[in-house]
Parts: sequence; C-alpha cells; structure tokens
Amino acid sequence: MKYLLVFLVFLLIAWRWRSSRSGDRLEEKQRQASRLPDNMVQCKQCGVHLPESEAIQGASGAYCSSAHLHLSEP
Ligand SMILES: [Zn+2]
Repeated sequence: MKYLLVFLVFLLIAWRWRSSRSGDRLEEKQRQASRLPDNMVQCKQCGVHLPESEAIQGASGAYCSSAHLHLSEP
C-alpha cells in the first residue's frame, strides 16, 4: 500500500513536469512565429503585396491569384 502511494505521487510529479514542459515549448513556438514574419512579395500583375506563403508562383514571379497568373502568363 505504501509503494502504491509513492508510485501515485511519482506519476503526479511526472505528469505535472511534462505538462509544464509542453507549455514552454508551445510558448517558444509562438515567440518564434511572431519573431520571423513571412517574406512579402509583390504581385507582377496588380502590384499588391502579400505573404510569400499565400502567393502563387509563376514562371516570371509571384502573383496574388491564379487569375492574375493567367493574365500575365497565358
Ligand atoms: Zn494581383
């Protein structure tokens, strides 16, 4: 019975330690995401600026939409 209690306390400590560590990792990820903004690119057709991850890459550059890609590069 005594060992069961020790085991339960150990499990509780391990669980608390794990949950606090994963919280730190999440905070660090959010900090890195806010520290490194996405590169901005300009649409070759209309000139609007947008994040590189949302841009559509054409043969001669980035575009804001597939419509503008097809207008410039039929
Ligand atoms: Zn555009």
